Parts: sequence; structure tokens; C-alpha cells
Amino acid sequence: MQTNTQSLIDHPFLSEAPKGHLISGRMMPGQDNQVFDTVNPATGKTIARLARGNAEDINSAVNAARVAFEGPWRNWTPYQRQALLYRVHDLIDKHFDELALLETLDMGAPLSRTKAFRGFILQTILHYATQTSNTAGETLPNSLSGSMTTLNLRSPAGVIGGIIPWNGPLISQWWILGGVLATGCTVVLKPAEDASLSVLRVAELLLEAGLPEGVVNVVTGYGHEAGEALARHPDVDRIAFTGSTATGRKVIEASTSNIKRLQLELGGKSPDIVFADADLDAAVPGAAMAVFSNSGQVCYAGSRLFVERKIHDEFVERIVAFGRNLKVGNGLESDVQLGPLVSQKQLSRVLGYIEAARDEGAVLSSGGEQLGGVLANGYFVAPTIFSSVHNEMKIAREEIFGPVLSIIPFDDADQALRLANATEYGLGGAVWTRSLSTAMKMVHGIRSGTLWVNCYGVIDPAVGFGGTRASGYGVKGGPHHVDAFLDRKSVYINGLG
Ligand code: NAD
Repeated sequence: MQTNTQSLIDHPFLSEAPKGHLISGRMMPGQDNQVFDTVNPATGKTIARLARGNAEDINSAVNAARVAFEGPWRNWTPYQRQALLYRVHDLIDKHFDELALLETLDMGAPLSRTKAFRGFILQTILHYATQTSNTAGETLPNSLSGSMTTLNLRSPAGVIGGIIPWNGPLISQWWILGGVLATGCTVVLKPAEDASLSVLRVAELLLEAGLPEGVVNVVTGYGHEAGEALARHPDVDRIAFTGSTATGRKVIEASTSNIKRLQLELGGKSPDIVFADADLDAAVPGAAMAVFSNSGQVCYAGSRLFVERKIHDEFVERIVAFGRNLKVGNGLESDVQLGPLVSQKQLSRVLGYIEAARDEGAVLSSGGEQLGGVLANGYFVAPTIFSSVHNEMKIAREEIFGPVLSIIPFDDADQALRLANATEYGLGGAVWTRSLSTAMKMVHGIRSGTLWVNCYGVIDPAVGFGGTRASGYGVKGGPHHVDAFLDRKSVYINGLG
């Protein structure tokens, strides 16, 4: 720990000198030399200064990505791309502690959490390495004249615009980079203004692994400037966007400039349903961490907890005790389980929801305040539990993206289903029960892209993850994700041969 922290002090990203965009394989300053500060949310201190990208920077990056797409990269075989991904896997593995530390300093998640994603990210890279041959087309039977041959061809879609949030950029970027590198596309990535460091560093490592310059470009900056320009750019073929539903709507509007195809991974308000027959020793910590992990800054956070009325009071008591024992603090400390919120803005937003819940008559069972003392300069909120919540209250309807749990009692499975589905979102959800028939009723009945039974937040890159309704569309990972990076063409060949 001591050694790692010491080496970070000397990390070139953590200095007064502003970092540039990574375009065509080179770090370069923004066209108008504007910069913005990156703040460590655990201390409120500036740790880096980054280029504030504008439409011209985006244009340069898109041009670089287009040139790379038309260049030798286009002729790399699936095996060459696969070998590259294996080299990338080894380099990311070698540098993972450094990447995890950058991410912790950048967005606040405890080091124990950022480091724990090593296995998942390496598996994700391996998954996409297995997908490089999944880009082939097919020969199809047809009902046409005997001399007609029909094919479905698939080819890389071109320049991808990747826009990602701050709550886990090490993960979010790989859902895009994996597809880009597996298929032979190129990309301009726009990380969130609150957490760009790991994205820039990974782009450098990709070059070290032998990726041709211009295949992966990174433009840092604000969403309404660089992000908007990327979503609108007429030479970007597709957008892979992960972020809030509100921004997703703006991205849809901007993408109409040239009818880009979109992948949209948006917000959520996921239901977590505990039946009286559940194993409560598993359900209590499971439901608590479903909402408190990453201090609630998780898209599929189980922020609406439906508890069968028979066990409601006992469950509230147990989950409150669990929440009170969680150690909140600076993520560099080894025993810390929950870090700060990412920014002052996010802190104000979460405290606003807590106040609204009190005003609407929800019962505050635990937490509910910003943490002071040694944590006063950071953006820390105590794990917060409201009970006696109604589904119509603001805290039960809107995505908070903070460590705030709403507990809502229910009487039977039909009512649980009705309440769970009374939301515009459809991202995740879980059910805790020992009954197979109850579990399957929920599996079939809950309108969400992902559903867990007696567990929460398990994701395998080979299986995939995605949402439905206002949580977006498209599945990241799984056997079909590469389709999102490929064009298809029907070919009819008559009388040759
Ligand atoms: P956000 O929507 O504010 O920002 C996401 C990204 O979009 C950032 O890079 C931002 O700079 C950019 N952006 C902002 N305005 C833009 C515009 N007008 N045009 C183009 N880009 C723009 O989201 P956030 O606060 O960074 O992240 C939290 C949200 O992300 C939550 O809603 C969470 O549920 C969602 N999320 C979803 C998933 C998923 O897989 N479904 C995963 C992680 C996070």
C-alpha cells in the first residue's frame, strides 16, 4: 500500500501540468488550450488538470479515427485482433494496481473495490478476444432461381463514438473497447468529466500493446461540449452511450444528424424483492450491498426494496444494523467499504432527495446526513435507509445514485410484481425466496433486462448485461454484442462461375 501510494505521487497524470487528449496516438493539448480540474472526492483537492475538449477537438479525433479505420487496421485478420487482445489482457493485468489507484483517486470508490474488478475486466477482454471470429457473415438458402447465390456479409461499422459515465469507467470503457477491437472498428471515447484518468491511461497502454495509432482516441471534457459534439458529428457511424436517461434522450436527438445507430445503457430504479421464506442471512447483506455498493452509484442499484409484510419489521431492524456497521471513508484506507459521492454536485443532489423523502413522510430509519469530522472536506453521505416508503414518493420513483434505500412492504406476489413494475425503468432486479415457483413468477413477471435470484449484481461478460424501457437498449457482452459494431449487407450473386 505504502509503495503504491508513493509511486502514484510520481505518476505523470497527477501533476500540475495539464494532460491532453489522446488523438492519433499522441497526447495533445486542446485546440483552445482550455483545461478543467479533476478533484479527489474524498478530500475535495484537485489532483489533475485535463484538456477541456470542444467541437474542434472532437472533429480532429473523429478524423483520426476515420483515417485509422481506412488504414492497415482494416486488413487485420480476426487472429491478429485476437492476439492483440491477449497482449492487451497481459498489459492491463500488469498495470492493474496502477489503474485501480487512479480510479480510486479520481472517483472515490474504495481501493478494495476498484482492485476487485481486476478479474472481471480481464475476463471481459478475454471474452472479446473470443469474439473476433464472430464477425463472419453467412451463406443463406434462397427461393430464387438455381444460379443465384445469396450471402449476408458483415463488416465493421466504422467510427464509434463512445460516451461513458464516471461511476466505473474502468468497466464502462471495456464494454466499448472490447467490441471495437474485436470487430475492427475505431473509436473516439469521451469519458465523464468527473473520472477520465483510467480511460486516458488505458488508451496509452493499448498503444504499448501494438494498437495502430488512431484506432482508439480519447477526448476529455464536458458532456454539453465534447459529448454533444461527438453525438452529433456526421462522420461518427454509431454511438455507444452509457449514462443517465435524461442525457440518453439528448444523445438520441443529436444522433439524428446522420441517423446513427445507438446502444443506450441508461439509468435504473431496480426492485429488490424479499419474500418471507427467503434465507435472511443471505438476503440482509445481499439487499444492503445491492444499494450501498459504490455508495449507491451503480446503475442497477437495488434502491427499491420490497419486503413481505410478515418479516418487514425484523428485516428493517437487521438491514439497519448492517448499514450502520459499514465503514465509510477515504478509499485509500484498507478497511473502508464505502467511499464518497463523486462530486459536490452529486452530494447536493443526494441530500436533496433525502430532504424530499422526509418532507413526503418516509420514516428515516438510519443515516440521512453528510458525514463530518475528518471526512468533512469530502463528499460523504451515511448509508441511509427509509422505511414506510410508498411507491409514489419521489425517492421511490427517481434514480438517486447515492446510498439511499427505500423499503416498501408488500402482502403477496401479485402486489410485489405490480409495485416492482410501476416504474419507467427496466434495468436490474432481484428476488430472494426459497420457492422455485415464486422465483419463476418474478423472473417472468418483472420487466427488466437483468434479473437475479438469491444474489445481486452478478455479471458475466460471456452472458451480458442490458436494460429495457427507459433503461435503454442493447446488451453489453454476451454472444451477440459484436453485432452492435457490425454492418450487414445482403448480397445476391447471379450466374457467376
Ligand atoms: P450523465 O448522463 O450525466 O453523463 C454520462 C456521460 O454523458 C458523461 O461522459 C457526460 O459528460 C456525457 N454527457 C452529458 N451531457 C451530454 C450531452 N448533452 N451529449 C452527449 N454527452 C453528454 O451520467 P453520469 O452522471 O455520468 O452517470 C450516472 C448515470 O449513468 C446514471 O443514470 C446511471 O444509472 C447510468 N449508468 C448506466 C449504466 C448501464 O449499464 N445502464 C452503467 C453505468 C451508469
